[in-house]
Amino acid sequence: MKTAIIGGGISGLSAAYYLRKLSVEKGFPLELTLYEPEASLGGVFDTLNNEGLVVEQGPDSFITTKPWALELIKELGLENSLINTSEKNRRTFVYLEGKLKPLPEGFFMIAPSKLWPFLKSDFFSWKGKLRILLEILIPEKKVEDESLESFIKRRFGKEALYKAAEPLIGGIYTSDSKELSLRATMPQFLRMEKESGSVIRALMKKSFGGSKDKSGARYSKFFSLKNGMSSLISELEKKSQIDSLELRNGVSELILFDSKWIINKKYDFDSAVIATPSYVSSDIVKRLDPQLSLKFSEFEYASSVVVNLVFDKSEFNNNPEGFGIVIPPKENMNLIACSFYTEKFPQRANADELIMRCFMGGKLNPDVIDWKDENIISTLSLELKKVFGADNKPKKVFIKRYKRSMPQFKVGHVNKINDILEIVSGYKGLAICGNIYNGVGIPDCIRSGKEAAEKIVQDA
Ligand SMILES: Cc1cc2nc3c(=O)[nH]c(=O)nc-3n(C[C@H](O)[C@H](O)[C@H](O)COP(=O)(O)OP(=O)(O)OC[C@H]3O[C@@H](n4cnc5c(N)ncnc54)[C@H](O)[C@@H]3O)c2cc1C
Repeated sequence: MKTAIIGGGISGLSAAYYLRKLSVEKGFPLELTLYEPEASLGGVFDTLNNEGLVVEQGPDSFITTKPWALELIKELGLENSLINTSEKNRRTFVYLEGKLKPLPEGFFMIAPSKLWPFLKSDFFSWKGKLRILLEILIPEKKVEDESLESFIKRRFGKEALYKAAEPLIGGIYTSDSKELSLRATMPQFLRMEKESGSVIRALMKKSFGGSKDKSGARYSKFFSLKNGMSSLISELEKKSQIDSLELRNGVSELILFDSKWIINKKYDFDSAVIATPSYVSSDIVKRLDPQLSLKFSEFEYASSVVVNLVFDKSEFNNNPEGFGIVIPPKENMNLIACSFYTEKFPQRANADELIMRCFMGGKLNPDVIDWKDENIISTLSLELKKVFGADNKPKKVFIKRYKRSMPQFKVGHVNKINDILEIVSGYKGLAICGNIYNGVGIPDCIRSGKEAAEKIVQDA
């Protein structure tokens, strides 16, 4: 079977790997061609190895509560390279009105899972705490989907939205909480409301199991790879045994002619997997299926800028003991979040160094992507000075721009995706995968690549 993979990010590479695996298991011949416009594979993955530093410009870790990444890493024989987050200082701070405040112990994104640390902490005002605890009494609202803002205001009140849900959840998706779909991003909270009548009740029941995580953010479930996340990409490339790797060669068109999939008017295949951002997929299938093309075009993507700063530990003042800080949109800063990367993974730098990963831009601050480097650095320095109360000077700076890389999961997202999957299911030998389908996280992307491979084999 001659198969084309269109897009060499983690989703496309996972599809390639699982196709190869199925061809070996089932004993069918497979000739794989992968098209990628960039000079290297990996999409948004980008590990820099620099004088003893492992600098992640793209993703830095993955969660294991969704099994697909860990499963794949074990299959690839990378188990010995796994590193877990440090057990020290598993805590997140929120920058609120000029101060860094730790989230109350056991606070899980939107709600407390432990009562006493929540009551004791001065993170929320007394009024805010009372309103949050009232959640236990709020009746369920039967809705198919709802925005993060509407859900949190309805169940927990405004303070919980501004101080916790917006920076913690909106920040992950670099999104606007007014638009972000809870069903597509955090369906567990809708489920808790439905099944337990209250999110707090459900979380408290769960927390009786005990956890090593101070903040409730499940840090113990996050892992990375010793030599950086890009080592997953190189191993996938190796094990997929791609017959023809077409780097610097993007696909502009995919059509079906005489039961063959034709790429760029020239090359024919028995099957094809589209693993590109949906706005690219829309262009690729324009002639094949205008309705599918239109549906692909309906998603918005936000841009962001990642700045890695390297400091001499001895010269860094006022480092709070934690894994990172998030900044609520209400604080009107360009900085969205900042991760104390070497607190999470100390082995990523020399013992006397500290790496901080700063995120700027996103849906609420779209212009940052077009700023010059000098502007990014000067704004960031000013804002970090405000946050830490000290003028820390980095000795190295790495800036990476991610243009239209973060899909926005707006209310109604799941139904839109189901429509697309329905159309694609009608095409034999065509599959799709990527971070817009199951979720943006690495495990979700791997799962979507695996499912795409399974469809191609079922269709054959
Ligand atoms: C800065 C950042 C940090 C992140 N951090 C984390 C994290 O720590 N943990 C986590 O789980 N997730 C994280 N994510 C999310 C996760 O990394 C991504 O959702 C995931 O890697 C996307 O993979 P993908 O293959 O679906 O898409 P992409 O990586 O975007 O790959 C798509 C590929 O398609 C190619 N392409 C484009 N046009 C064409 C064309 N015409 N023809 C052929 N190919 C084309 C692109 O060049 C690209 O290589 C992060 C994302 C970003 C942007």
